[in-house]
Amino acid sequence: MPEFSISSRNQVRRLSKRASYDRDVIHRIIDEALICHVGFVEEGQPFVIPTIHARSDETLLLHGAKASRLLKHVAAGNPICVVTTILDGIVFARSAFHHSLNYRSAVVFGRGHELDTPEDKLRALEIITNHVAPGRWAEARRPNARELEATTVVRVAIESASAKTRTGGPNDDEEDYDFPVWAGVLPLKQMTEPPIADSRLTSGIEPPEYVAKYRRTD
Ligand SMILES: Cc1cc2nc3c(=O)[nH]c(=O)nc-3n(C[C@H](O)[C@H](O)[C@H](O)COP(=O)(O)OP(=O)(O)OC[C@H]3O[C@@H](n4cnc5c(N)ncnc54)[C@H](O)[C@@H]3O)c2cc1C
Repeated sequence: MPEFSISSRNQVRRLSKRASYDRDVIHRIIDEALICHVGFVEEGQPFVIPTIHARSDETLLLHGAKASRLLKHVAAGNPICVVTTILDGIVFARSAFHHSLNYRSAVVFGRGHELDTPEDKLRALEIITNHVAPGRWAEARRPNARELEATTVVRVAIESASAKTRTGGPNDDEEDYDFPVWAGVLPLKQMTEPPIADSRLTSGIEPPEYVAKYRRTD
C-alpha cells in the first residue's frame, strides 16, 4: 500500500491539508533527518530521548549501549513513538501571530524487537552508520565480537505514521498586508564547515569525499 491507513492514532487533525500518509513522503523525511526523538512511557512517566536512527524498508533501526534504558524498553516490544523533524525556514509574517516555521516532520508508531544474531546486528549497524555518513561503513574498522556484544540493536516495525509539512510564505490577515515591516521566509539548511582532522590522525590521510562534500540532501 502506498499510504499508511488513517486511524485515531496517526490522523492529523489540526491543519490537515498539511498532512501526508504517503510512504515515500514519510520515508524521505526519516532518511534526511540525522536524528530522531523516541517517546515512550515507563510506569506512567513519559520520556522523550534523542538518538540516531536509520530506516530499512518499513522498519527503523536504533542502537545503543546494552545498559540503555531506552534500548531495553524498545527491545522488550513496548509501544513507542518516533519523531523526525527537518527545519526548512523561518516564516516572518507582518503580525506576530502569523509567524511560523517551514518544516517537514514525520511521526511514527511501532514496536521493537532486539536483533540477536551477529549477522543481523552487523547489517543493521552498517545501515545506521551509512545513514549518518554514506560510505563510512566500507572504510571504518568493523565492530569486533566484544563491541558487538556490548551493543543492543533494535528493529522497530513501522505500524502507522503520518507526515506534516509547511511550505511557502506567511499567511497574514488581509488588513495587515500594508503593515510596513519586512515579511518573507529565511530558508534554513543543515550545513557543514571544513572538516577538522583528529590531532592523532596519521599524516597523509585526507578527508574522504563523503566527509569533504557531506550533504544531507541530493
Ligand atoms: C544527537 C544525539 C544522538 C544520540 N544517539 C544515540 C544513539 O545512537 N544511541 C544511544 O544509545 N544513545 C544516543 N544518544 C544518547 C541518548 O540520548 C541517551 O542519552 C542514551 O541512549 C541513554 O539512554 P537511557 O535511556 O539509557 O538514558 P538514562 O541515562 O537511563 O536516562 C535517564 C535520564 O537521563 C536524562 N537523559 C538521558 N539522555 C539524555 C540526553 N540525551 N539529554 C539530556 N538528558 C538525557 C533524562 O532525564 C533521562 O530520563 C544520542 C544523543 C543525542 C543528543
